[in-house]
Amino acid sequence: MEKNCDILIKGGTVFDGSGTPGVAADVAVEGKLITAVGDLADWTAREIVDVAGKAVAPGFIDAHTHDDLAVIEQPELRYKVCQGVTTVVVGNCGLSPAPLGPRQEDIAPFTIFRGKDASPGGAPRYPTFGAYLDGIKHAQPWVHVVTLVGHNTLRAAVMDDLFRPANGDEISAMQAHVEEAMSAGADGFSTGLAYPPGLPAPTEEVIALAEVTASHGGIYCTHMRDEGLGLLDSIDETLDIGRRAKLSVVISHHKCSGKVAWGLSKQTLPRIDEGAKTQEVHFDLYPYTASSTGLMADWVEEAERVMIAGSEPVPEAAGRDLAELAAEWGCTVPEAVERLHPARAIYFKMDEADLERILAHPRCMIGSDGLPGDRHPHPRLWGTFPRVLGRYVRERGVIDLATAVHKMTGLTARVFGLERRGILAPGNIADVVVFDPETVIDRADYENPVRLPDGIERVIIGGEVRYEH
Ligand SMILES: [Zn+2]
Repeated sequence: MEKNCDILIKGGTVFDGSGTPGVAADVAVEGKLITAVGDLADWTAREIVDVAGKAVAPGFIDAHTHDDLAVIEQPELRYKVCQGVTTVVVGNCGLSPAPLGPRQEDIAPFTIFRGKDASPGGAPRYPTFGAYLDGIKHAQPWVHVVTLVGHNTLRAAVMDDLFRPANGDEISAMQAHVEEAMSAGADGFSTGLAYPPGLPAPTEEVIALAEVTASHGGIYCTHMRDEGLGLLDSIDETLDIGRRAKLSVVISHHKCSGKVAWGLSKQTLPRIDEGAKTQEVHFDLYPYTASSTGLMADWVEEAERVMIAGSEPVPEAAGRDLAELAAEWGCTVPEAVERLHPARAIYFKMDEADLERILAHPRCMIGSDGLPGDRHPHPRLWGTFPRVLGRYVRERGVIDLATAVHKMTGLTARVFGLERRGILAPGNIADVVVFDPETVIDRADYENPVRLPDGIERVIIGGEVRYEH
């Protein structure tokens, strides 16, 4: 065997992504691939990196993102790569930039694509999913991109009125778009049934589209209809869709939203386990007790506190408290919402106990749900992965390090069917992150959300060193 390689990562503790405990091992990278893992004391390399005391893991896979346009407009994706992320799943919550439709303009949640980096008038501007995938190829993003086609986008593409169920012709037209997307290379289908344009869709409409997805071996990811008091019904609906359309399902950003729903994870997790006896079901989570999406009056009501992440007519409102703004303006909160629209917000409305219970569950993957377009983004955009490793592994001991890495790598790769990623082993793509388990931590917070994390030392993507800190 050739005992030579491009990059030799020596002396670290390798967490291979399978969930098994770390072992002392060296890692050899040659070209785009990992060529050897083990005691490589007698190897030579173009570059030898000494990582004694550090952890070496497969590049992290962000199971839930809205980086759809960012991977094209800022291909280096700094806010993710600095966390060790080397693969992102886009097209979540029923929102994808293709196929193009005339109806997205000002309706939440489409406004999440309208940040400083989005095109004027909203993002979806690719006539077909194939055109969007070509756009990604052309941009050559540093990270690997896994794509979903979004139900809300599909509805906007074929329906003149989004606030009713689709009729037979419209369902056929959406099925044709799903067929096109999956044939072009999409990995699955997503819904955002909690949002105004998704909510009117009956379960049957979703199943009709999920069936086309299933015929291509795709996955179904869902921002469920209700994450509050109706959470258990929503889980039942999700499991029903997966069973009847015969495909693997992912519950997006699993949470118990609003004080009335706190503690419901004690019931949701057993319900999911019950489903998992007969079907494939997983979920993702971001490690924060505030959510973030378009600013909507109904959603404001169930939050303890609301912070503005970005507003088009009032850019200086970013980072401000909504109630304070309303007081300053001498108006009601709904009037302030009106004045700020289109806008995005951070909603404080979850409980730490639910978060930790969900995180600890073996079917839980890590997904940031970060919104890259905002002037004052939710800190999850820059902090999710280091926060899990620092706060929830080292400080709080909710899960151990090998398990945390698994939830960011091997588990996610398996759920999304990603070949040669997620496990650090010879023959796999050389996506590798080196971090210091003693210091890794997020530094982005609600007040200062744009900050590099600590402790992520080196990120290699497809054999290229893309980040050093
Ligand atoms: Zn969502």
